[in-house]
Amino acid sequence: MQLSRIYASLPERFSAPLSPAPFRNPQIVTLNEPLARELGMNPDWLRSPAGIAFLSQGLRPDGGAPVAMAYAGHQFGHFVPSLGDGRAMLVGEVTDRSGRLRDIHLKGSGPTPFSRRGDGRAALGPVLREYMVSEAMHALGIPTARALAALTTGESVARETMQPGGVIVRVASSHVRVGTFQYFAAQGDIEGVRILADHVIGRLYPELAEAENPYLALLEAVTARQADLVARWMLVGFIHGVMNTDNMSIAGETIDFGPCAFLDAYDPAKVFSFIDQNGRYAYGNQPDMALWNLGRLAEALLPLLDSNREKAIEQAKDALMRFDGVFNDTYLVGWRRKLGLAREENGDARLTGRLLTAMHRGDADFTLTFRRLGDMVRTEQTDSLVTLFGPGSGIEDWIGDWLARLGREERPVEASYTDMQTTNPRIIPRNHRIEETIQSAVAGDYAPFHRLVETLSHPFDDAADGFEVPPAPHEKVMNTFCGT
Ligand code: AMP
Ligand code: MG
Repeated sequence: MQLSRIYASLPERFSAPLSPAPFRNPQIVTLNEPLARELGMNPDWLRSPAGIAFLSQGLRPDGGAPVAMAYAGHQFGHFVPSLGDGRAMLVGEVTDRSGRLRDIHLKGSGPTPFSRRGDGRAALGPVLREYMVSEAMHALGIPTARALAALTTGESVARETMQPGGVIVRVASSHVRVGTFQYFAAQGDIEGVRILADHVIGRLYPELAEAENPYLALLEAVTARQADLVARWMLVGFIHGVMNTDNMSIAGETIDFGPCAFLDAYDPAKVFSFIDQNGRYAYGNQPDMALWNLGRLAEALLPLLDSNREKAIEQAKDALMRFDGVFNDTYLVGWRRKLGLAREENGDARLTGRLLTAMHRGDADFTLTFRRLGDMVRTEQTDSLVTLFGPGSGIEDWIGDWLARLGREERPVEASYTDMQTTNPRIIPRNHRIEETIQSAVAGDYAPFHRLVETLSHPFDDAADGFEVPPAPHEKVMNTFCGT
């Protein structure tokens, strides 16, 4: 394993060195062996006492100190100048098998100088939730932080009740956030913003170093990646839950899984997160909120764009204007594929919109609608789809129009079928399943967790294990909690 200290070597004010304390009895719940090998790590070593100390408390084999990263952030619209890793640490960067640098980051590893009144710990439930959802996102082909391991600590943490403590080891292209730029900008530390921007360009966007204005190019590139990311979330019905600027990665990956959830029945106003009482981060608001966050990034970068503030603002506005174009491209291409369409027709966006209206009116399950639409291409039976829709949805009319549209595809229906069944998952991490799994694990039975992780790793397969079934009314999860 090649472990660097690149971020930790930036100036002192970027992070705080930690000397992590051991847990009472750390044990691996699950180790992602394929990912470990991809990172050039030996799974047997990771399971050894030294490996477990590395995974649970960030004890580096070379004795170097892990760090807590400094950052600020807008939380639900309110600026907090100093947040930082309060229960997380960056152990270092590994060079993976393809030569790419990846952060090794622990969550739940103990207090840091940024913990404020928090205990620096994580409960096992949210750790397992993050493990399941981040690996499910990866299997769905969505840019995301990965999960390398989940551990129990042998200690209890005090939440609403006492709960078993846990640690998640996550792997991302970077843990620099929009809020990291805000941290320096808010202190008027333009040099800090510049050092951070150069670090990010060097690591994540090396091709931009040659651009005429690399910092403007950086804003454009991050805008494009975020637009693409959020479009992909929308296409699978994912709700991040807490899109604060400190939870939005500069690399354009899904990070900081808190009270995230997938839609069951389609509803654009759907919110799960208990802490989001005003629906700021509702499913349908996510594109707007991503763009709002990018506006905060633009503000932080302004002094680097041009010494003339007016000019800098104009440039930043132009960069942010690209959001809609990239979002709509990914979104429309994605929708066509979801509907089995390869040709482009002007009416496609409208056809999509009408399906969503029918789904909303008919309270139809998001995931099953598309899966059964795909089945219909083969079976030509509409019943299994129509039964997903409540009365007055207008789905029958829509099906007629869609079949007519499909008829204008200049390719065999089998090709549409294949496209649909490889883009519309059968298995998503349904909230009721996750909750059920967590409850079993907290009670000491990890078998359902392992089964669900395994099932989520091939979301497009047609196995008959019942994991695709939406919640019965009494099983519906109304709220998700951070629970951290
Ligand atoms: P998050 O909910 O992960 O976006 O966290 C928001 C901020 O609160 C970050 O600065 C975290 O480090 C901090 N935080 C959350 N939970 C804890 C905790 N249990 N102990 C210390 N800091 C925490
Ligand atoms: Mg966070």
